[in-house]
Amino acid sequence: AIAALALTGCGRSETSTGGGTEGASGFEQDSSIGVALPQKTSENWVLAEKLFNEGLTEAGFKPDVQFANGGVSEQQNQISAMVTKGAKVIIVGAIDGSQLGTQLKQAKDSGATIIAYDRLLLNTENVDYYVAYDNFKVGELQGQALLEGLEEKKGEGPYNIELFAGSPDDANAKVFFDGAMSVLKPKIDDGTLKVLSGQNSFEQAVTQGWKAENAQRRADTLLTGSYSSESLDGVLSPNDTLARAVLTSVKAAGKELPVVTGQDSEVESVKSIMAGEQYSTINKDTRKLVEHAITMVKDLQAGKDLEINDENSYNNGVKTVPAYLLEPVIVTAANVKTAYEGDPVLEPITK
Ligand code: BGC
Repeated sequence: AIAALALTGCGRSETSTGGGTEGASGFEQDSSIGVALPQKTSENWVLAEKLFNEGLTEAGFKPDVQFANGGVSEQQNQISAMVTKGAKVIIVGAIDGSQLGTQLKQAKDSGATIIAYDRLLLNTENVDYYVAYDNFKVGELQGQALLEGLEEKKGEGPYNIELFAGSPDDANAKVFFDGAMSVLKPKIDDGTLKVLSGQNSFEQAVTQGWKAENAQRRADTLLTGSYSSESLDGVLSPNDTLARAVLTSVKAAGKELPVVTGQDSEVESVKSIMAGEQYSTINKDTRKLVEHAITMVKDLQAGKDLEINDENSYNNGVKTVPAYLLEPVIVTAANVKTAYEGDPVLEPITK
C-alpha cells in the first residue's frame, strides 16, 4: 500500500539505507524495561500504560512505565532515569520525536535497544525498531471516509469542508494529514471540495498539543469567519478527541452537523457514531500494538531476530527504521456493530 509513495521530510520515504540495527544478544529475564509514554492526549495512551504494566510483568520483566504530562523535559529526564536503572529495552512514545537525541544516545551507549512506539523518533541514529499502525493508511482511510460520508449524507457536491491536523511536534500528525490529502487534494483541485477558509496547508490546520480546546477555538473562528451564510458539510479531523471538539463547536453555532472523521475508537466517539453524529473513526486496537511491542522485547531477550514487515518506509531523517506495522480499520455506522468483536470495552456498548 505504501511502495509508491515518495514523501519529503521525516515521515515515510522510499529511501532505504538497508536493514536495521542488529538485535541484542539476549539479557536476563527479570530485567528492567522502560516505557516512556507521552501526555494523556487520548484514551489509547492510558490503556497502553495498563497493558504494558500487566503484559511485561506477566512475561517476567520489570516494567518501568512513565507518562510525561509535564512535557518534553520531563520525558527526557524519565528516559535518563530508565538508563540509570539499567533498562535493557526502552520503548518510547515521544511527545516530540526530535527532542530526545541526547537521552537516546545515552540509552544506546548503555547497551539498551530502543523501540519507537506509535510515533517515530526523528533525526537520530539511536532508534532500532518502530512498531505502529500504518499511519499513512490511517490518513487515507480518513480521506476516503470523508468523501463517502459527504456523498451519503449530503448528496451531490460540491461540498464545503475544513481541515484539521494533529500536533506539529508529533511525527504522526503530518503523516496522517498527508495520507488524507492524497485522497482529498485531487478533489479540492477539481472543485468537488471547497475549503472556504482557504486554510488547506498542514501548518494552517494543526492543533497544538492535540488539545480539544484548541480545535474547538479554531472551529469557532472558522464558523464565524466563513460559514455565517454557508453550510459546513464536512470536516477532516485527525482523531476522536478533536472530532468531538469540532462537533461541540458546530452545535454551539446552531448549524447542521457536518460529516466528521476521527481516529482511536474512543468510547464517546463510538457512541456518537451509533447516535449518527460523528461519521467515522479508526480502530487501531491498542491491545494488539502493545502485545506486538512486548513480543519484540521477548525476542530481544531471547536473542532472536525480530519480525519486521516494513524495511523501507520510515526514514527518520538519519536512517530508515525497520518497522512492524499493523493495519488500521475504518469504522462507520455501517460496520460499528461488528468492528469491535472481542474488545472488552467496545463490544458491549455496540451490541
Ligand atoms: C496517535 C493517535 C492519537 C494522537 C493523540 C498520535 O500519535 O497515533 O492515535 O490520537 O497521537 O494522542
